[in-house]
Amino acid sequence: EIPVLTIDGPSGSGKGTVAARVADSLGWHILDSGALYRLTGLAALKAGVDYDDHAAVAEIARHLPVRFEADRVYLDDEDVSLEIRTETAGNNASRVAAIPEVRAALLEWQRSYARPPGLVADGRDMGTVVFPGARVKIFLEASAGERARRRYKQLKDKGMDVNLAGLIAEIEERDQRDRNRKVAPLVPADDALVIDSTSKTIDEVVDLVLQAVRK
Ligand code: C5P
Repeated sequence: EIPVLTIDGPSGSGKGTVAARVADSLGWHILDSGALYRLTGLAALKAGVDYDDHAAVAEIARHLPVRFEADRVYLDDEDVSLEIRTETAGNNASRVAAIPEVRAALLEWQRSYARPPGLVADGRDMGTVVFPGARVKIFLEASAGERARRRYKQLKDKGMDVNLAGLIAEIEERDQRDRNRKVAPLVPADDALVIDSTSKTIDEVVDLVLQAVRK
């Protein structure tokens, strides 16, 4: 059976960075499931599809014209690598992610990422829904203030123009929606190891996760 490590948590908890570092260290594949929801939100927007039209958004998720190439991602041959990373794109992702048909449309595609020698899956429901039988499950937390600071730095480092107050408001709105939605709400799996990264360095969190995998 292919080993899977799931890393779930709210935005800015450090999941993405930790998942990439751990995958690198283990030589495992990585699934950035949030990117699929971000791409669905963006593709629907570009197609002029209303997010309230659940069937139409699900249809877009089912046939995403997406291509991953090294660290770039293309939608219909347009490089959207930066566009999907804005906080607005994150918020739109969380709106389409609350649609059950969209989650169903992306389920098998996500599972197909589990290939030898192993997979690190980063998201909100990796341990609860997509890979319930994962060998190791991590749930990363951090205080709201710290998560906003991290997201701010991340976006700034990408050369994006960000307003801190607006960012905090968007992150809070997004997290509320992710935690309170009816399908696959953001909660730790019963058998997840919960790590609070607020006052930990990335190295410390990576070490804790690797210890859990090697146990
Ligand atoms: O992780 P990221 O910030 O890229 O995710 C964007 C949004 O996609 C999240 O706020 C969440 O609503 C949704 N998402 C999800 N399930 C996942 C990954 C992301 O609902 N497994």
